[in-house]
Amino acid sequence: MHLYNKQHIKIYNSLSGEKELFTPISEGYVGMYVCGPTVYSNVHLGNVRTFMSFDVIFRYLKHLGYKVRFVRNITDAGHLENDADVGEDRIAKKARLEEIEPMEVVQRYTVDFHNILNKFNFLPPSIEPTATGHIIEQIEIIKNILDKGLAYEVNGSVYFDVLKYNETKPYGILSKRNVEDLMHNSRELDGQSDKKNPQDFALWKKAEPQHIMRWPSPWSDGFPGWHLECTAMSTKYLGEQFDIHGGGMDLKFPHHECEIAQAEASNGKAPVNYWMHANMLIMNGKKMAKSTGNFILPTEIFTGDNPHITKSFSPSVARFFMLQAHYRSILDFTNNGLLASEKGFFRLMDAINALDDLKSAGTSTFDIKEWQQKCYDAMNDDFNSPILIANLFEAVKFINQIKEGTASLSQDDLDLLKSTIHTFVFDVLGLVNVKESENGTDKLSGAVELLIQLRQEARANKDFGMSDKIRDELAAAGIQLNDGKEGTTFTTN
Ligand code: AMP
Ligand code: ZN
Repeated sequence: MHLYNKQHIKIYNSLSGEKELFTPISEGYVGMYVCGPTVYSNVHLGNVRTFMSFDVIFRYLKHLGYKVRFVRNITDAGHLENDADVGEDRIAKKARLEEIEPMEVVQRYTVDFHNILNKFNFLPPSIEPTATGHIIEQIEIIKNILDKGLAYEVNGSVYFDVLKYNETKPYGILSKRNVEDLMHNSRELDGQSDKKNPQDFALWKKAEPQHIMRWPSPWSDGFPGWHLECTAMSTKYLGEQFDIHGGGMDLKFPHHECEIAQAEASNGKAPVNYWMHANMLIMNGKKMAKSTGNFILPTEIFTGDNPHITKSFSPSVARFFMLQAHYRSILDFTNNGLLASEKGFFRLMDAINALDDLKSAGTSTFDIKEWQQKCYDAMNDDFNSPILIANLFEAVKFINQIKEGTASLSQDDLDLLKSTIHTFVFDVLGLVNVKESENGTDKLSGAVELLIQLRQEARANKDFGMSDKIRDELAAAGIQLNDGKEGTTFTTN
């Protein structure tokens, strides 16, 4: 019997605005699509947060025994500046500025994305398709929508006819907007005059002569609209109807709304049963975003090299920090928040490290099965990782009480406690057991290490005046250098 027959998940479906019992289309199988990054720059911690929410969901579904096909794409064409239908392609722009090929931009930032996700111990998705690898599929969908009369061609570009579509299917069902409001609120931007209505969106854009990312099509040499790639890739790998589609909250409109309309127009079916949206990571009270400069890069967390933090943090601590918030809550990035998570993380790891030395007893003073079910209940309730973590801290309490001799567990219960903790901490939350000593260095240590190195160089150059000055000035600041056989270390008073 699979665990999923016993543990029933409820998912908050953005489409209905309610938590719904999760029933996959085919028993035992889950198809999940998550919008991937646009690879024109390094991913920031906000992007990582959204991907991490779905990494944990993927891990939990797998743990329950589902066979999950998890598709997360790479957007390597079609995503224009300002998420609009006019402007430069983000990747082409970067290529122009750096005087390199667009595919060099794509390669560089795809590699960076993978490196960062590996550092955070992500599981790779089952398929990671690219937009440029699916131009033919995108053209086929456009032909289909044109055949249905729900798109129109103007000057080599093809637009989705939102008003026409809205005559039979509601446009705006996901983001709860209606077309009348959209018409009043849409501004006519320069260059959009080809559209019949400003809320129509591009399925295919004719490339301007300077636009280097271009492909032949029946309408023009051009490129697909941003929303189309996800419809093409999700349909190709998961079918016309699949279980879960995820992404950040900011993609709900227009991106996901347009995905629904394209798929409905092309296949006549609602593509997704459960729409899931992860909430934003904010910093200084504003959304973390590349465009505004209000962001922190994961590598800056690992090195401590950013004015928002006072020290470096290991990827597992940063991961723990993010999972202490529910994926649908806004999370505020602060140094104090990270410091508090760091303490909690090492308390949890210390307890896990102590598990192997715990001695069993004849009887148990805790109901471990009940505690284990509480861990499942937390994850079954729309993947509530903060409640799961609170339950894990309950276990930390028992472990410490057993160590102190004020509580006991039978051998079977002790085994169950160990295996459950390992499952949830390492397999489901994806944390890695790092020791406190491996958790990076604080900024002071980094600076002193640099001065120690400079002093060694000064000594090697026989500049004893400089080497003494470094030692004395540090001593005056309360930092003593101790020269030993193994090199120089320091202590602070
Ligand atoms: P992009 O590369 O801009 O398409 O973004 C990749 C993913 O990161 C999308 O799912 C976005 O919704 C998500 N995202 C962007 N900014 C944030 C943020 N500040 N917090 C959480 N997720 C974000
Ligand atoms: Zn998408």
